[in-house]
Amino acid sequence: TNDQLAAWDRDHFFHPSTALGAHARGETPPRVMSGGDGVFIEDRDGNRLLDAFAGLYCVNVGYGRRQIADAIAAQAQQLAYYHAYVGHGTEASITLAKMILDRAPQGMSKVFFGLGGSDANETNIKLVWYYNNILGRPEKKKIVSRWRGYHGSGLMTGSLTGLKLFHDKFDLPLAQVVHTEAPYFYRRADPSLSEAEFTAHCAAELETLIDREGPETIAAFIGEPVLGTGGLVPPPAGYWDAIQKVLDRHDILLIADEVVTGFGRLGSMFGSDHYGMRPDLITIAKGLTSAYAPLSGSIFGDRMWQVLMQGTDENGAIGHGWTYSAHPIGAAAGVANLKLIDEMGLVANAGAVGRHLRAALRDAVGDHPNVGDIRGEGMMAAVELVKDRDSRTFFDPTEKAAIRVVAALLSEGVIGRAMPQSDIVGFAPPLCLTTDEADQVATALGKAIRSVLG
Ligand code: PLP
Repeated sequence: TNDQLAAWDRDHFFHPSTALGAHARGETPPRVMSGGDGVFIEDRDGNRLLDAFAGLYCVNVGYGRRQIADAIAAQAQQLAYYHAYVGHGTEASITLAKMILDRAPQGMSKVFFGLGGSDANETNIKLVWYYNNILGRPEKKKIVSRWRGYHGSGLMTGSLTGLKLFHDKFDLPLAQVVHTEAPYFYRRADPSLSEAEFTAHCAAELETLIDREGPETIAAFIGEPVLGTGGLVPPPAGYWDAIQKVLDRHDILLIADEVVTGFGRLGSMFGSDHYGMRPDLITIAKGLTSAYAPLSGSIFGDRMWQVLMQGTDENGAIGHGWTYSAHPIGAAAGVANLKLIDEMGLVANAGAVGRHLRAALRDAVGDHPNVGDIRGEGMMAAVELVKDRDSRTFFDPTEKAAIRVVAALLSEGVIGRAMPQSDIVGFAPPLCLTTDEADQVATALGKAIRSVLG
């Protein structure tokens, strides 16, 4: 029964990213999810909700896709598992590697498979370190990431993540990680700066940090094409070009974390292509399988490969691999998912309907006195709430403005997300969202904001 599940959940289930005390006191009873189709998801109480966050920005093709479920079932029946070590593969994993590289930005030629975004970023950092060791520059190891970046919650990836919640009380960040300014135009410290001036400021800030640390100590820069969990912040104009120039000057590798932006979310297959980035490594997960099964990847090109090969010629096997690397069930889901993204035209839809969604949000709440900024790119949108629109003053955190608005939005039948450590209501719907559904999201947000903030 639902009551029994609620009790077991309270007593035994350690949920990720959850206020544990409140949960143990029964203040956050579980919504037991039981089904879904398209952008809608259902719970055991019969509620049908429009999921305007695609789970955790991952169910790109939408819920209930038969083609993917059938591919998973067929793979499980044929061969649920075999490892991928020393030259072994399955038809699904080999085919998926080829399909990913066919879609990846120019210059990419290899993929290492993992399970989730965090482990794929760990892999990328290990490959960068290995690379610099083989090149005989063991001191070039530091990784630069941005405040407000999100790259996972492991020891290294939690360090890269630029949100204090992921550092405090965990003794993070690790010493090899340094953070630079977020390209957050709306919240820039000096409001008199134009977008171009702010871009120049961010690049100068990075240059200063590199000078301070010593370029010979810095191995790589990691960034999401659009900041996701840190507030759904697209970069200011020219940002990636300016950053790339600084990195090139100091022989620093670029890791594009495309866990959210990969496979169509920005209206381009990859965010790197969308912004003309030239990454050396790319991290993928989420949209790779639309989360029908856990699977991630670390992609890179020949520049890395030629050096990594030298290391393994000297040392034999590379000391990096997971039992579930290239898991056949995840790979089968990935093959079916990438086919579906093409067949349904979802990359173009993400661009077109994403634009419509932001316009609808502007119509619905753009002139509300507590709405400071509405922004986004492709199928990502953020509505930033402020106490005072002119001074852009924050709400007092105890007011929990975004959390209350998201709760009210849920009562209107729409799932959005209160982004951590800020008053931002985020949307990242499945890429199959229609314009009618986008209007439904905007109308519901209008009602929610007015009911909570007046
Ligand atoms: N990188 C980015 C940009 C993410 O948004 C996330 C998760 O949201 C991760 C990495 C970590 O992925 P996972 O939670 O699958 O470990």
